[in-house]
Amino acid sequence: MKFEVNILGCSAATPTLKSNTTSQLLNIHDKLFLIDCGEGTQIQLRKFKFKFQRISNVFISHLHGDHYLGLFGLMSSMHLLGRTKTLHIYGPPELHALIDLNIKVSQSYLRYKYEFHPTQTENPELIYEDNTILVHSLPLNHRIPTTGFIFVEKVKKNRIVKAKIHQHELSIEEILKLKNGDDVFREGGETLYSKNCTLPPFPSRKFAFMSDTAPLTKGIELLENADLLYHESTFLNDKIDRAKDTFHSTAEQAALAAKNSNVKKLCLGHFSNRYTERSLFLDEAFKALQ
Ligand SMILES: [Zn+2]
Ligand SMILES: [Zn+2]
Repeated sequence: MKFEVNILGCSAATPTLKSNTTSQLLNIHDKLFLIDCGEGTQIQLRKFKFKFQRISNVFISHLHGDHYLGLFGLMSSMHLLGRTKTLHIYGPPELHALIDLNIKVSQSYLRYKYEFHPTQTENPELIYEDNTILVHSLPLNHRIPTTGFIFVEKVKKNRIVKAKIHQHELSIEEILKLKNGDDVFREGGETLYSKNCTLPPFPSRKFAFMSDTAPLTKGIELLENADLLYHESTFLNDKIDRAKDTFHSTAEQAALAAKNSNVKKLCLGHFSNRYTERSLFLDEAFKALQ
């Protein structure tokens, strides 16, 4: 089952000819989730051939322009291209008013419904759940209210051993029971034990999205053992004072967050355009991990 993260933009502050501002598209079990929507996100979606009408849930971390200015355009294109499916948007409460104002002053309308789910920055919170995943918001440490998002697969079921299906002529009902960890008691006294007919489930996967933020002290247990942590690294350590003043992180600080939370992979982004050589971010992060 798919669990993919696609980076659509990794520039801080302004888009350039080389890269767009923040946006990421997640494909989890063939459901598409959009995180942040910087300018030009819809063009990136087209470029990478993602069908954006398949996106039903959009998560916006905060209201700095480089994280949401593409949302109005995307919503408008969804309307013009005939969307009827409801769109769910999760983000700071003020975003709701901004979207409504944009629709009102242009005297337009949306032919689809959108539902707004306000985030808050007091505590981590479960904000989305379906039959396969959970999404928690995580308050970050930025200049304005900002949340990260943690996507976790739900605990999966045991995997049936195919040979056992034929060997015991298992019915669908029996397979479901065994996958749930229950034993099957057949008429006539035969017992089929779940532990003999199934293998343990594949481990659940976790992706943590952290942008924009200074190093966190609260809530980091949510990042623990993530398979992938996306952590902003706007600056290198040569600008650590600037990072502190603007509530951002350096590549070294991002690497230390990954190390301290025992995450398996780290993805850096939100690079300041003052740096032309992006390999320097990797060098600094690797050094911190040694
Ligand atoms: Zn930003
Ligand atoms: Zn910001």
